[in-house]
Amino acid sequence: KASVMDGVEFEDEVPAESLDKSTEKSAFEKLQEGRKTLPVYKYRDELLQAVEDHQVLVIVGETGSGKTTQIPQYLHEAGYTKRGKIGCTQPRRVAAMSVAARVSQEMGVKLGHEVGYAIRFEDCTSEKTVLKYMTDGMLLREFLVEPNLEGYSVVMVDEAHERTLSTGILFGLVKDIARFRPDLKLLISSATLDAAKFSDYFDSAPIFKIPGRPFEVEVHYTKAPEADYLDAAIVTALQIHVTQQPGDGDILIFFTGQEEIETAEEILKHRTRGLGTKIPELIICPIYANLPTELQAKIFEPTPEGARKVVLATNIAETSVTIDGIKYVIDPGFCKMKSYNPRTGMESLLVTPISKASATQRAGRSGRTGPGKCFRLYTAYNHDNDMDDNTVPEIQRTNLANVVLTLKSLGIHDLVHFDFMDPPPAEALLKALELLFALGALNKLGELTKVGRRMAEFPLDPMLSKMIVASEKYQCSEEIISIAAMLSAGSSIFYRPKDKQVHADIARTNFHTGNVGDHIALLKIYSSWKETNYSTQWCYENYIQVRSMKRARDIRDQLEGLLERVEIKPMSNSNDLEPIKKAITAGFFPHTARMQKNGSYRKAKTPQTVYIHPSSGLAQVLPRWVIYHELVLTTKEYMRQVTELKPE
Ligand code: ADP
Ligand code: MG
Repeated sequence: KASVMDGVEFEDEVPAESLDKSTEKSAFEKLQEGRKTLPVYKYRDELLQAVEDHQVLVIVGETGSGKTTQIPQYLHEAGYTKRGKIGCTQPRRVAAMSVAARVSQEMGVKLGHEVGYAIRFEDCTSEKTVLKYMTDGMLLREFLVEPNLEGYSVVMVDEAHERTLSTGILFGLVKDIARFRPDLKLLISSATLDAAKFSDYFDSAPIFKIPGRPFEVEVHYTKAPEADYLDAAIVTALQIHVTQQPGDGDILIFFTGQEEIETAEEILKHRTRGLGTKIPELIICPIYANLPTELQAKIFEPTPEGARKVVLATNIAETSVTIDGIKYVIDPGFCKMKSYNPRTGMESLLVTPISKASATQRAGRSGRTGPGKCFRLYTAYNHDNDMDDNTVPEIQRTNLANVVLTLKSLGIHDLVHFDFMDPPPAEALLKALELLFALGALNKLGELTKVGRRMAEFPLDPMLSKMIVASEKYQCSEEIISIAAMLSAGSSIFYRPKDKQVHADIARTNFHTGNVGDHIALLKIYSSWKETNYSTQWCYENYIQVRSMKRARDIRDQLEGLLERVEIKPMSNSNDLEPIKKAITAGFFPHTARMQKNGSYRKAKTPQTVYIHPSSGLAQVLPRWVIYHELVLTTKEYMRQVTELKPE
């Protein structure tokens, strides 16, 4: 029966087949022809008419039908950009960047000129920009500067089905401004069919359907649950690769995050090397949120003749980014999902089973250019009985402090009656208000204070913003924005290759002399790097990731600009660490923990046991009281980035 390779058994056999190969053409010709083959092309005129006739339009079409890349271009061609920009929001940074890059190619313009993108800490637009792709969070922030979105003639809230927190809030805001800006066109586009819900929300806005997917997808389930889905996914991919014709299609595997993808990449490289030269080349293409821009383009490059591509992706490839030529999808059935417990205030990112809606989307990725196959690494029983129908909207499983601060600074005082499409739990709203009150951002009437107004200027978590605002009082704004930038640059500041772990760990301890704590260590790293005039060599010598440092520098530059905007002078106090620690504490006092007899810690606010992360400079020191930047749940609940707190 089934064609099997070490342990992954599917219900039925997978026969080999091949597809016709298209003839060679110039890249630009191909681009233009490609545009015309997209499902949306046939409906161009009809769509433009519908936009003309209605202020709000809900657009539904399968992923890959051309909504994101084509519709803004059509509107541009039809003259909408004469009246203002066309803004198109994306839930994911990578999607905003890659789509903008694609559209600029299709229009034959330089990225950042007529077509640009904006994501947090990175603005690639100019005066010329008429098509602006951006994360939903960025458009949300634009409301702070331009509450009517005057500069826009069209706003397209794209990937609406993802129901991210920012998209959820945007719905409420754009619905509101559409009332007093009749000239503004509003497009809500979505890949799935719960469009009725969007239509209802937008006062029965008409739904424009771009008809469906042309090819069948065969779905295969495993016979039994897989204990190790990472291994099962790799084995399945190799099985496809060696048994199916190389020219017939590429493979897409869904993983939960960067680490998993990197592990899979290593294993795949190792195993294909083991298979020798008898098998066709397998090109491994990872894609995840923090993938450096220069590597992102690789996944879109056409697969060379005789080779096969295997794309290792996070949820990004589920609907946000479309990769052509995928014929096989391997779906382990998991994703990383944020969850929030308002009672403890704990936010965590956990590997969770996906919903049925996600599973359907994932499978659909294989049937775009021809019949596809989807290998689900779970049983049909699991799918039918254990998976939720839909993914819970983010607004119902996240910390709302940031959003509440943004809404308050937009002058939306009555949050309980805000027109949420998916209302957040009351408890989570209360918790957010309580935190903002404690931080001094709101007064006891729930009104925004001067501190809160300044905090809202920073595109950061309120605790970080408070730390920055407090640095004025402690006269150490220079140091504090360096620390904030380092904390925001990502968790991989240190480079720790397997064969040099001892050296890497020694290098790291250099920054911890005097048990100064992790925040100060980050500051020392940044300052030392700056002293070397941002030397790459210095990073290598100290086992520091150059890329993360560059990102920290970019973020710091922006924070510097924002300091000026809230009129906090650059002040430095590097000889005295106390004021710096005080400023940190002013923001992070809700994250206080006290040591217990056995070396574990107990949070001050809720009775919860936590530990200092082994990578912390204080892991062996165990101060009596500490404050921490964040909690991460791995084998235990760990505090990461820890500084000693003086009880007084
Ligand atoms: P939708 O938004 O309906 O999911 P898109 O407009 O994103 O569809 O994609 C339409 C087509 O554009 C895809 O089939 C793909 O071929 C192409 N495309 C999109 N983004 C890129 C990119 N960054 N690089 C190359 N091709 C892309
Ligand atoms: Mg899209």
